[in-house]
Amino acid sequence: MFIRELKQPVSRLKGIGEAAVKSLASMEIYSVSDLLLHYPFRYEDRKKPVPLVYGRNDAVINTKAVITGHEFFGWGSKKALKVFIQDDTDSAVLLCFGRSFLKDKLPVGKEINIFGTFQFKFGELQSSSFDFEDAELEESALFGKILPVYHLAGSLTQKNLRKAVSQALREYAISINDELNIPLYKKYHFISKETALNAVHFPSSEEDLQKARTMLIYEEFFHLQLVIGRRSLKQHSFERTSRIIPTALQSKLREKLPFELTADQDSVLQEIRIDMESSSAMCRLVQGDVGSGKTLVAFMAALSVIEQGRQAALMAPTELLARQHAENGARLLSDLGVRIAFLTGNINAENRKHLLEELKEGHIDLMVGTHALFTEDVEYKDLALAIVDEQHRFGVKQRVALLSKGSHPDLLLMTATPIPRTLALTAFGDLDVSTIKTMPAGRKVIETHLARIGNEQKVYDFVRNELAKGRQAYFVYPLIQQSEKIDLKDAESMFNHLESEIFPEYKLGMIHSKVDEDLKEHTMKAFIAKELNILVATSVVEVGVDVANATIMVIEHAERFGLSALHQLRGRVGRGTEQSYNFLLYSPELTEEGKKRIMVMKESSDGFVISEEDLKLRGPGELTGVRQSGFLRLRIADLSHNLDVMLQARDDVRELLGTDPGFLQPENRNLRELFSKTPPFSDDLLASG
Ligand code: ADP
Ligand code: MG
Repeated sequence: MFIRELKQPVSRLKGIGEAAVKSLASMEIYSVSDLLLHYPFRYEDRKKPVPLVYGRNDAVINTKAVITGHEFFGWGSKKALKVFIQDDTDSAVLLCFGRSFLKDKLPVGKEINIFGTFQFKFGELQSSSFDFEDAELEESALFGKILPVYHLAGSLTQKNLRKAVSQALREYAISINDELNIPLYKKYHFISKETALNAVHFPSSEEDLQKARTMLIYEEFFHLQLVIGRRSLKQHSFERTSRIIPTALQSKLREKLPFELTADQDSVLQEIRIDMESSSAMCRLVQGDVGSGKTLVAFMAALSVIEQGRQAALMAPTELLARQHAENGARLLSDLGVRIAFLTGNINAENRKHLLEELKEGHIDLMVGTHALFTEDVEYKDLALAIVDEQHRFGVKQRVALLSKGSHPDLLLMTATPIPRTLALTAFGDLDVSTIKTMPAGRKVIETHLARIGNEQKVYDFVRNELAKGRQAYFVYPLIQQSEKIDLKDAESMFNHLESEIFPEYKLGMIHSKVDEDLKEHTMKAFIAKELNILVATSVVEVGVDVANATIMVIEHAERFGLSALHQLRGRVGRGTEQSYNFLLYSPELTEEGKKRIMVMKESSDGFVISEEDLKLRGPGELTGVRQSGFLRLRIADLSHNLDVMLQARDDVRELLGTDPGFLQPENRNLRELFSKTPPFSDDLLASG
C-alpha cells in the first residue's frame, strides 16, 4: 500500500503542470518516488555569510545589503538597470539586464539578502547572476539554509523542483519506509530513510547531509548486492545430487585434435568439471584473450553433458559467429556422434518448427545459435549446460532468460573483454571467474605497424607480397557507405577501389551489417575456403571470426575505433602458425586520444593491459562505461569512491543469506519482504543491458 502511494504520478504535486511533467519525464522522473530519488548534484550554502569584501573572480557572496542608488546604462533595447548596494564591508552593483522593473522592487534604503557570484570589472564589483529576497521576510525560502541544486530539463527551474520535492517530502512522509533490515540500522547507527531523504534534499547542516549520504549510499549498494545475491541464490540454492562427470567423449576429441590443450585450457576444464560435479549449479565466467582457445573449452564442457544423454546450448552475439561455431562444432564433434543444430532468427517457419520439435524430443544434443535460442517457444528436453560466448555483448536479462530454459542448467560464460574489478564485484558478483592467460603454443606475436593515410601504397604493396604467398587479408573500414558528413574511407567505395585498381589480380569479398545473411554466409564460406583473397569489412568481423590462413589485418582510419575493438580486430589474425601483420592506418587529423590509442596498440598485445589502458584513457568515464553497458544504475553511490562501502554491503548481504537460513520462512517478515518484492526506491537497479 505504501509503495503504491509513492508511485503516484508527479502531476499530483502542486506546480507540476503538463509542461513540467514532460520535462520531468525527459529525465525519467514519472512518480513521486522518482522525484524523491532525483538527488541534488550540488548545494548552495546560504547559511554562512560571505560579505562583499570577498567578491572577486566569481566568488560566491551571501550577505545582507542595503540599496543605495540606481542608474541606467546602454541605449534602446540594450538599456539596462544598475542597482547599487552596500554591506558592512564593501559596495557593489547588481546588473539587471532586461529587468528594469527591479527599480521599483528595490527602492533606495531597502534591505535585502543577496546571494550571487561577483567579479571585479570596469572598476567596480558587480554581479549579473544573483538571487535576492526582502531581508524583513518572516520566513525565508531562499536564505539562511543550504539549498539543493538539481539537474534540470526543459521548462523546469530550481524553484519548481525545490517546491515539488519539499511538498512530496511533507505529504508522502508516512509512505517512506525503511528498506534495510533492522539490525543494520543499529550496527551502523543509520538514520531512517525518511530522515535521510529530508536531509539529502534540504540538509540543515553539512553534518546532516553526510549522515544522509552515508545511509543512502550503503542502502543503494545493499539493494544491488541483494539483487546479485538473490540471483546467485536462485542458481545455487537448488540442491542436486553430486555426480561424476564422464570424460570419454572429451578424451576422444583430444585424440582427434592436431594439438595439445594448453595448461590453462586444461585447468579451466578441471574447474568446470568440479563445478559440474558439485551439488549446486555452475555459474562460471571464463575470460581469456582473443585466440586463447575458449571455444574449444566450451565444446569440451558440452561433451561431458552430451555423454550423459543431456543437452547443451551455445549462444553467440552475432549470426556470423554463431554460424561459425556451428560449423566448427560440426567439424569437430559430428564423428563423435554429437547431433548439432543451428538456430537463428533468420530461419523459415517450417524449418524452425521442425527444429524445435527435434530439440524438444531430445534429438539434438548441442544447439548453437543467437539469442533466438531462448525465445519463449524454444523448449529443451533436458538442457544441462548453457554457454554464452562473448558474454559482454549480452545483458543480464538475456542471461537469466537462458537459465530459465532448463531446470537449473550449468552456466558457462566466455569473454575476451577482461572485467574491471569493480564490475567483477557488482554485476558479476555472483560468478566464479577462470582465466586463460597463455596462448596456444607456436603462436607468433602479431607485428603491428602504423602508417599515415597518404602512405597506404606501401602497405598495399606489402599485402600484395603476402597474398602472393597464398595468405589472406582483411581490410576494415569505419563506415559502410560514403557519407557526406564525414570524410572517411568506407567499405563499399574501398571495395570497388581495391578490386579494380589495387588488387585486380585477386578476388575480393565484402561483409557488413547491411549485407543480407545469405550473402554474408556465402562470402564467409568462400573466404574460409580460400576462394577469396581479401575480405573487406566493417567491424562486424570484430567478434569471433576465425580463419587461420588470414594473416593480414589492415584497419584504415584506425583512430576511429575504440581500443577494445582494435584489439578484437587484430585478434582475427595470428590464429595460425604463420607470422601475422596488423596495419593501423591513421588519418593525419588525429586527436590526442586517438594517437594514444594507436600507440597503446603498437606497444602492447596483451588484452589485459589494453583493457586497463582503455579504462585509463577513458578516465572517470569508466563509470559511464559501466552505466552504458547497462549493468548498473546508481543514483548516489559511486563505484570508484565508495568501493569500501560496497564491499561492506556485500559482506552484510552474504552474511544475511548465509547465516539466516530461515530468511524465506514466513516469520522472518522483514527479510522476506526484501526478497519477495523490489523495494519502492530501487527497482530496475539492474537494467537489462
Ligand atoms: P577465442 O578464445 O578467441 O574464442 P578460439 O577458441 O576461437 O579463441 O581459438 C582460436 C584458434 O586457436 C582456433 O583456431 C582454435 O582451433 C585454436 N586452438 C585452440 N586451442 C588450441 C591449442 N591448445 N593449441 C593450438 N591451437 C588451439
Ligand atoms: Mg571466441
